[in-house]
Amino acid sequence: MSKIRSKIYELINDMFYTIFPDLCIACHKISKTRNSYFCINCIHNMPYTDHFKISDNTVTKHFKGRIPLTHGAALLSFRNQSNVKNMLHGLKYKGKKETGQILGEIAGQKLAESSLFEKPDLIIPVPIHYKKKLLRGYNQSGIFGQGVSNASGIKMTESHLIKYTETASQTGMARTDRVKNVSTTFQINKPEELVGKHILVVDDVVTTGATLEACCLLLLKAGVKKISILTIAAAE
Ligand SMILES: [Zn+2]
Repeated sequence: MSKIRSKIYELINDMFYTIFPDLCIACHKISKTRNSYFCINCIHNMPYTDHFKISDNTVTKHFKGRIPLTHGAALLSFRNQSNVKNMLHGLKYKGKKETGQILGEIAGQKLAESSLFEKPDLIIPVPIHYKKKLLRGYNQSGIFGQGVSNASGIKMTESHLIKYTETASQTGMARTDRVKNVSTTFQINKPEELVGKHILVVDDVVTTGATLEACCLLLLKAGVKKISILTIAAAE
């Protein structure tokens, strides 16, 4: 009886897949492999970086002289007109939360397996203003961070670093002004719980790095011992 039941279940599952095939989260074409989030083409062409193996990489170089980083890494390299851009756009503006979760799990696994990375104590995502979070329904960096946490076993907290004012437009500002502009909008709660810890700050993408820099400097000022950065993507 249970054999028949499982056959029926399989059949229904097949029919469902025929009507609603899984789409690749990178290129949005039909994924030929079932239960896979990427199509074969994207799996083979995903622009993974070597940041979990090489300490002197684009992320650490980007922040050299700005933040005393212990580790810095991006999972993917970012180019305009690429599938990475599609994924980031979907995650941020089209409600594609699962993209952040899946990429977070891949990054978390790479971090856990890396012989270069010493395991941080805590993950803190770059926060967004609560109004934006209400509107979007989630913080994309928090979704990514949760994926990293699930795969690596490192706890994540979203209550220690908050953004309490909306950032003014940064266009046309010098880098130091950008950092100053964003640093006044973040606040640390219960700093005593962060003292002496190694914190991994996570974000979706490194562009100017002003927001990441402001968050890291604030955490260091609060007594954090070591700081590392992990993002979904960074421009090469
Ligand atoms: Zn694809």
